[in-house]
Formats: sequence, structure tokens, C-alpha cells
Amino acid sequence: MSDTDTDSSTAFPASFPLSAWATLSQRSVLQEMLKTASRPGLISFALGLPAADLFPTKEFAASVAEVLARDPRALQYEPASRDLRAYVAALMGQRGVSCDERDVFVTTGSQQALCLLSKLLLDPGGDLILEETVYPGLRSVIEPLRPRIWTVPTSPRDGIDVDAIEALLKRGVRPSFLYLSAEAQNPMAGRIPADRRERLVRLGESHRFPVVEDDAYGFLTYEDSARPALRSFSDGWVIYVGTFSKILAPALRVGWVVAPPHVLEKLPTLKEAGDIDTVTLSQRAVCAFLASNPLETHIAVLRREYRRRRDVMMQALDAHLSSVATWSVPGAGIFVWLEFPPDFDAGRLLTLALARGVAFLPGQGFFMERERRNCLRLSFPNCSDEVIQEGVRRLALAVGDYRAHSELR
Ligand code: PMP
Repeated sequence: MSDTDTDSSTAFPASFPLSAWATLSQRSVLQEMLKTASRPGLISFALGLPAADLFPTKEFAASVAEVLARDPRALQYEPASRDLRAYVAALMGQRGVSCDERDVFVTTGSQQALCLLSKLLLDPGGDLILEETVYPGLRSVIEPLRPRIWTVPTSPRDGIDVDAIEALLKRGVRPSFLYLSAEAQNPMAGRIPADRRERLVRLGESHRFPVVEDDAYGFLTYEDSARPALRSFSDGWVIYVGTFSKILAPALRVGWVVAPPHVLEKLPTLKEAGDIDTVTLSQRAVCAFLASNPLETHIAVLRREYRRRRDVMMQALDAHLSSVATWSVPGAGIFVWLEFPPDFDAGRLLTLALARGVAFLPGQGFFMERERRNCLRLSFPNCSDEVIQEGVRRLALAVGDYRAHSELR
């Protein structure tokens, strides 16, 4: 979204109809918040932004200069870089997955991967199993296909409830796919315990549906060594979706899919219809950067620093909000999920919080059904310690305003 973006819906009267799904579709919570969160002076915990102060800008500038100087084809249309695919295949080893470059398909961010896979796996009106809260980017991708959605409880500690998936399957539900994040789910930050991961994958295998594993935050773990990706348990039934957005920078728009051959075979044609190819300059610059800057070192910096910022947020929440809300300490990822008493309305709190100069995302936009209004999501990486402390202080003031308003009613 550009700075000059205006609300075009008021510029012309509607003169021709849009498609049925477009007519029904609404701006996503993320789009709304992108506009609001850019307000000067506002402290934003709303969007899942990586820490801009940790982007390796100098090193990346050198990599871009190098690839442009070396070969003008860095600005050409081109099939996906073999070097990049080989690098990703090796990187997957850190998630317990063994594969080679033939198993990797490069996409324009993992968002495109979700879009392509939904088109590939889901017929209009088909069945889908999702967690009860879902990353809104997945929601916007599947909406035009109007699937029949079966939701499964998920928790900020342990992620998706594997027993509940099994119960759905026993009732005869046969999804086109199951989408989830095993590690640091967005928005709740849940992590499926290591001993439940294989069982989940075997459910897919035995009932013959693919599991689409969105591992956007899988490299950002803080407590223990990372738990293996679901893909490590099955090459045939788990489709892995990864991204450089959270471990390098999102503006590069480089993501990937690791999938079985019959999926990989179809992806290029689908991708061509969307954007022809992933920006060659980005791919080559990422390769050049990785050749002289070990990613492990950069990820170690991110883990250490994000963990520290998380702890600053935890201390601030303990100090200001422990009497009104509960949360789990996220062991991975970039989000904290707060729950207030059942009658609390985080949408109303947001209005008051914006007036106090702090933003967050109300939880209701993440629920697929049975919307709960008493939750909210905070993101901590893209803020200094002082900003986190001040932002939580403002949030607590807004909660005070909320209570005062409620008593007056
Ligand atoms: N999956 C999840 C869970 C996300 O949170 C995001 C972005 N925040 C994406 C996918 C898409 O990210 P990108 O396209 O930048 O890789």
C-alpha cells in the first residue's frame, strides 16, 4: 500500500458489478491497520513486522551492487535460481527436513505460496480444516473459493488440538487440505509439542489429505532447540511453506515451497498466471548475500535480540496488565496473545488505545467462526525497549479508560 493511497471507493459511483465474492469481500484487518499504524507518534504493536533496525542493510547493499555489476541478467525474466533452491534445501536441514533443490519451488513471499497451493488443492466449495484462529492472509486467499470450513481448537501454548482433528475425521470429514503452523502460530504463538507432531502427520497420511505447513516463524525459537517441522515426518503428505521475510527481510519477497513432485509439477504454470517469476534481482541478491554472510549468524542475532525484546514486553505486561489479562510467554515467533475476561471487547479497547497513542490487533479478526471479542495480539520485535515499555503503559491507560467508560454506562 502506497503513501498516496486514497479511498478510491468514493471517487466514482459504482457503474458496473464486481464478481460475487468481490462484492461480499471486505478490507482485511491487516489492510485497515496498515493505514492506522503509520500515524505519526503512534506506537504500533499491531502488525507482524520484523525488526527494521536489524536488517543487514549495508551487507545487502553490497550484494545488490555486486550482482548488478556482475551480470545484467539480474534484471531479466528468469526461471528460479538453482543456487537459491540449493541453499534453501540445505537450510531445510535446520528444520529436520532432508531434501534437495529439485524439491524446492521459489515463490514471491510465502503469501504467494499459500495462494498457489489453495488454487491447486481446493475446488470451489471444498472442505478445509483450519485452526480456530487463522492468519488473515490465508483467509483472503481461500475466500473466493468459498470452502466449507471445519475449525479445530488451538491454544497459545500447544497449538492445534490433534485429538480434535481426529474427532473430525471420525465424523467423516475429508478435507482438501489442513492448513496450520506447527511453530509459533499466527496469531496465538502456539507450538505443537514435539511428541504430537508425528501423530498429526500420520492422520493426514492415513486419511489421505495433505497438510500445508506454514513455517513463517519456524526459525525464530527462543526456549529450546527448534522442534522438527511436520515435513520431516512425511515427504508425501506435508507441503512445507517457508520464507526469508522473517529471517532476512520481507521486502525481498522471497519464499519457497517444499512439496511432492506432482505438486511441484503444477506450480510453475499457476505462478506464471500470477506474476511470471519471482524478482530475479531479489533472488540473486539473496544468494550473493548468503555467500558471504552466514544466515546462521544472522538468525542467532535475531533469536537473541527478539528474545530480549519479548522479555521486556513480558516485564511490562506483568507490571501493568496482570490484574486484567492473561497471556503465555511465547517460546517462538513474534506475537503475544492476550485474553481479557469474557465480556471484554478488544475492538472498543482499540479505539481508546489509539486515542492514547498505541495500536494492537483485536483478536476477533483472526477467528474463523465463533468470534471472540476478548482477545488481542501484540507484536514485539520492531520496537526498542523504551517504546515497548511506553506502549504497554499506554495500553494499560487505555484499559483504565475502558473500565471507567464501562462503569459510567
Ligand atoms: N504466513 C504467516 C503465518 C505470516 O504471518 C505471514 C506474514 N506475516 C505470511 C505467511 C506471509 O509472509 P511473506 O509473504 O512475507 O513470506
